[in-house]
Amino acid sequence: KQRDPDQPEFHQAVEEVLRSLWPFLEANPRYLEAGIIERIVEPERAVLFRVPWVDDAGRVHVNRGFRVQMSSAIGPYKGGLRFHPSVNLGVLKFLAFEQVFKNSLTSLPMGGGKGGSDFDPKGKSDAEVMRFCQSFMSELYRHIGADLDVPAGDIGVGAREIGFLFGQYKRLSNEFTSVFTGKGLAYGGSLIRPEATGFGCVYFAQEMLKGIGRGFDGQRVAISGSGNVAQYAAQKVMELGGKVISLSDSEGTLFAEAGLTQEQWDELMELKNVRRGRLSELRGNGLRFLPGQRPWSLACDIALPCATQNELDAEDARVLLANGCVCVAEGANMPSTLAAVDLFLEAGILFAPGKASNAGGVATSGLEMSQNAMRLHWTAGEVDQRLHGIMQNIHHACVSYGEEKGRVNYVKGANIAGFVKVADAMLAQGVV
Ligand code: NDP
Repeated sequence: KQRDPDQPEFHQAVEEVLRSLWPFLEANPRYLEAGIIERIVEPERAVLFRVPWVDDAGRVHVNRGFRVQMSSAIGPYKGGLRFHPSVNLGVLKFLAFEQVFKNSLTSLPMGGGKGGSDFDPKGKSDAEVMRFCQSFMSELYRHIGADLDVPAGDIGVGAREIGFLFGQYKRLSNEFTSVFTGKGLAYGGSLIRPEATGFGCVYFAQEMLKGIGRGFDGQRVAISGSGNVAQYAAQKVMELGGKVISLSDSEGTLFAEAGLTQEQWDELMELKNVRRGRLSELRGNGLRFLPGQRPWSLACDIALPCATQNELDAEDARVLLANGCVCVAEGANMPSTLAAVDLFLEAGILFAPGKASNAGGVATSGLEMSQNAMRLHWTAGEVDQRLHGIMQNIHHACVSYGEEKGRVNYVKGANIAGFVKVADAMLAQGVV
């Protein structure tokens, strides 16, 4: 905290991990003696660069670009790029730190990284987004590579942005390699990658619910966000017979008291991904948009926060608990504040931290890299089956390390299971 006083999100992420890891570290002092903790909180490398670009009116803008290469202990750096005005070094360090544990949990050989820019794609033309992406990649390309660092999408970086970024990388490197995941199907992408984080989050929650003899059928499910993760979490919940009672964005919440219908979901997909409109434009039977509201006030059985960090605080947690919510599975990264997590754990409800429940996205990115390396293309069914299996394995790992007084503490389970593999690799590789 003294070294980087202006990085609260990073401190929060480290505190969450260390709190639950500490008894394990005391019982296994070899990790402390080798300085693993001091090393794991320091990025192996972080680059910061200027991204100049010209808008449609000919005006010059300058944004900041970043790539944080946190850990390559178990594989090449891997993690998304975020384009959002709130992006700064501290936010990316928190995301990269989380990514290290998450990637380890997938059991695939991927290190952790994260990058992005304070650029806001909202309201920009396609041509402006393309010029920005080309400028961003003109610097980033020298720091990434198929066996070095493989970025992907995140908030503000979807299919359009990845296409532009990949195109510029290919042009500069003179190579067509698997340097990006989340690519379009026409140029090396994997089926099910767009669905993977949302589907994976629901698969994980399904495993948790089995433990209390429940499922999604007939359950009221509150979802936040309306982007990539939220869209496919909603679809899978509906497929399993659950009722999606909310979606949200930075302007407010869309409540669907009777549950979102298939037609409304189709309209959402068109609105967000084709017309690039706002959630408040979604109208219809039983839909109500409330500006400035979060989704947690309506009674629900299951909550899936899928928007952004710290979007669910202690007050929200109290309301959810009072309304009988039995399961919270994070689709976003660190959407619950530390105080909210404590309340869920004290109440003994099922709570899954994002590094476990949203790992399906990066896991499927790993599957995209495998397909690219083999020059093969798996069917949607094959990828979905592997994704499902990986989420079940992550759940199993969390249960093995997180069992506590007859219950599963998924925070502890995910942190220890993710840590052990990375730390053992670091022990084996010496002080580097
Ligand atoms: P998108 O850009 O597709 O969607 C983000 C959604 O969150 C939008 O609805 C956006 O609303 C909302 N949002 C963003 N910032 C805020 C904010 N400050 N306050 C309220 N709402 C906000 O991103 P993704 O769906 O890809 O990512 C969502 C979360 O999931 C992030 O935490 C990301 O790190 C995490 N994640 C994503 C993965 C992926 O594969 N995509 C993988 C693992 C984790 P608005 O349009 O108003 O900004």
